[in-house]
Amino acid sequence: MPLMTPEQFEESLKLLKPRVFMNGKRVENILDNPNTRTVVEANKASYEWAQDPASRDIMTAYSPLINDTVNRYTYVSRSVDDLIRKAEAGTFTSENLGTCIYRCVGYDCFHSLWSTTWEMDRDIGTSYHPRFLEYLKMVQTRDLSVAGALTEPRGPRNKRAQNWPDPYLSVKVVEKNDKGIVVKGAKINISGGFASHEIVVLPQSAHSAAEADYAVAFATPPDAPGITFVCQYTPFSAERDLADDIEELGNPLYGQRETSMIIFDNVFVPWERVFHCGEYAYSGEFVTRFARTHRMTCGGTCKVGFMNQIIGSAKLIQEYKGLQNVPHINEELAEMVALRETCRSCGLAAAYKGSEEPKGSGVFLPDELMGNVSKLNVCNAFWRVMALAGDIGGGLIVTLPSLKELDNPETKAYVEEFYSFGGDEPAENVMKVHKHLQNWTAGLHGVGTWHGAGPVQAQKIMLQRVINYDREKEIVKKTLRLKPKAPAADSGEETKG
Ligand SMILES: Cc1cc2nc3c(=O)[nH]c(=O)nc-3n(C[C@H](O)[C@H](O)[C@H](O)COP(=O)(O)OP(=O)(O)OC[C@H]3O[C@@H](n4cnc5c(N)ncnc54)[C@H](O)[C@@H]3O)c2cc1C
Repeated sequence: MPLMTPEQFEESLKLLKPRVFMNGKRVENILDNPNTRTVVEANKASYEWAQDPASRDIMTAYSPLINDTVNRYTYVSRSVDDLIRKAEAGTFTSENLGTCIYRCVGYDCFHSLWSTTWEMDRDIGTSYHPRFLEYLKMVQTRDLSVAGALTEPRGPRNKRAQNWPDPYLSVKVVEKNDKGIVVKGAKINISGGFASHEIVVLPQSAHSAAEADYAVAFATPPDAPGITFVCQYTPFSAERDLADDIEELGNPLYGQRETSMIIFDNVFVPWERVFHCGEYAYSGEFVTRFARTHRMTCGGTCKVGFMNQIIGSAKLIQEYKGLQNVPHINEELAEMVALRETCRSCGLAAAYKGSEEPKGSGVFLPDELMGNVSKLNVCNAFWRVMALAGDIGGGLIVTLPSLKELDNPETKAYVEEFYSFGGDEPAENVMKVHKHLQNWTAGLHGVGTWHGAGPVQAQKIMLQRVINYDREKEIVKKTLRLKPKAPAADSGEETKG
């Protein structure tokens, strides 16, 4: 069975030597650095859950491609039932990690790659699909963690890529030869790439023949010559760097959602790993099919898991404070649950209403309208859930002293006395739950949730494209028994041309 154990996963990362920078310094070993380590831990958990009988159904799938059981995050959905499992996995992983499962974007890219390479081969006679399937077989057989990269620095947004002063603000093919292609440019905000075995890259800026060199999709190991990772660095990174004990932190083991810029400085990609090169008319399909999949996952499923962490913390604090019978607090908790359920319902509905795209390809994608609506809902619902948790948590969420005070003989007794709310809950627990809410409500997750899988306007644009009001108009016409329009009167003018 091609499932790695968590230990094998960690060992396998030691064989890779990605060039990683953080806080102005080289990260020599991503397994040791306290911030990059959180990504290793999060991906490692996905290997553990695939082995665990309690979560195996969610975390694995039977792949006919290799006739074996594979990790769900290397699998491409072949039915509505698969999409439902995919949605469940999104919530399961995020509520257990309280951060990203870093295999998620690659997983969603696989759906897009399967669907669009199949379509290109059918329409224009390319041979990308068998090449992609060979790649996916390798990923499944070796149970690889794969990150996904679309977002780019981009030049002035009011100009097309060919008119940017710097042509490499989007990943561009700069050379083609009989062995492969050479690419140059960068991707930004990429989740967890340095702790993955592979990165799949999809295009972002190719719309016309003049931008054909930007029409490129490929896969590469993270330590291919010419690849550099420049990691995010936030107050939370600094806090983790300084922490003596990860238990002091708001999410001890898995931390924040870690991203980096990935620079491709003349990176060679062999043809076996190139899945799109120059066929600009299909670049948009790669992106929209990825977005269609990712908006269900990132919107309707993953953030539901995050909300569960926030709701659980707010509920514990309500109990610590003896506020169980206070109507407005219970109303706030109920509102949080209603928002969570709305998001969850949208995500699940997108899965239930999923369909094969394109017909005959064998790959199932979530419903476009519902997937987009689920991400649109979550953008606003997530801020609201955090605001409500902030109300219940009180000022302590942001005024909390360090948990180190509990080890300081001069302050320990004060902190234990004054932060236990006069109850029997140890002050340490009370403080940790507040710290956890600090991580959510006063941290990176609000903007992260808004922008991950695209900001609100991106969903609105997609909705405008797919909404069709014909059915609704017909319903009204039928209910009101509206008369058919009179045929247009003959104007008597001669038809021109
Ligand atoms: C935590 C996190 C993890 C992420 N992980 C990944 C990942 O793994 N892989 C990946 O590929 N990406 C990832 N992303 C990137 C994410 O998809 C983008 O951040 C998102 O698509 C928004 O793009 P941007 O950040 O460049 O913002 P911008 O595009 O700059 O958006 C800022 C504002 O400008 C508006 N705007 C932008 N362009 C235009 C335009 N042409 N016309 C009108 N309005 C415009 C937007 O609507 C928005 O209001 C991640 C992001 C976050 C926050």
